[in-house]
Amino acid sequence: MTRFFVPDDQMRGDRVVLAGDDVHHAVRVLRMGAGHRFTAVGSDGSEYLVEIEQVDPGAAQLVARVVSRSRPDREPRLAVTVAQALIKGDKFDHVVEKATELGAAGFWPFAAARSVVRLDPARARHRVERWRRVAEAAARQSGRLRVPAVEPVLTFEQLLARAADWRSRHGPDSVVLAWEGESERGLYQLMQARWGPPSQRAPEPGRQDSLLVIVGPEGGFAPGEAHALREAGASPVSLGRLILRTETAAPAILAMLLYHSGDLGRAPAT
Ligand code: SAM
Repeated sequence: MTRFFVPDDQMRGDRVVLAGDDVHHAVRVLRMGAGHRFTAVGSDGSEYLVEIEQVDPGAAQLVARVVSRSRPDREPRLAVTVAQALIKGDKFDHVVEKATELGAAGFWPFAAARSVVRLDPARARHRVERWRRVAEAAARQSGRLRVPAVEPVLTFEQLLARAADWRSRHGPDSVVLAWEGESERGLYQLMQARWGPPSQRAPEPGRQDSLLVIVGPEGGFAPGEAHALREAGASPVSLGRLILRTETAAPAILAMLLYHSGDLGRAPAT
């Protein structure tokens, strides 16, 4: 069933209003009209089965009636935020799309010393808007109950400050630095240290843990950056003997973390 994320100000009692790009997509692309049903997802993660009552003549908005409401339990218990260095072309889109499908909680794009891409403020805003659309489309497609937030592009100094703050709030090993120079400790060891062996059962409802994962650009982190991130409290880990492309690293890390936490790879009822 087609789904749309609906902001609070468009939820009007037992009516739901779609506007802007969503109504264009529903009416012009999907050819929906009165009597068609879709799923509206509220900001609290509620899902509403709704039926279109009327589409205004210019297709600027449509009104749908709520048929039923449910509170599904589908979001990962482990909230993983991905801090991804700026990378070339549409590779960042790829990271946002795949990591959203896997269950990422949010994205922090940042400028690294070896990021080939340099964005002036206007282009950075434009890109962030695009990544937000990519995240929304992927969240819709994969049945997510929320769209991961994409933050404005951070400088490396801002990333350091946020990483230190995250570490002080969430404790040791909560800031994971994917660093190809690490030879002692792997992501597997970090997961074991934080949670023990992979969960035998799906975790209990409610957020259980929050991790920040930091991934470098195509050329990797400059030595000074890796050092500064460690000083800020990040835990460097290897992902294994092979070097992954930067756009592969974040989705691979998410898959490994969420498998270990019990969020991925299990049938919903188990
Ligand atoms: N410049 C590096 C080289 O040529 O050896 C490769 C950098 S890699 C393509 C880009 C980013 O992906 C790294 O900065 C790191 O965050 C992550 N990454 C890829 N493979 C990794 C691994 N085996 N261990 C840890 N991090 C890895």
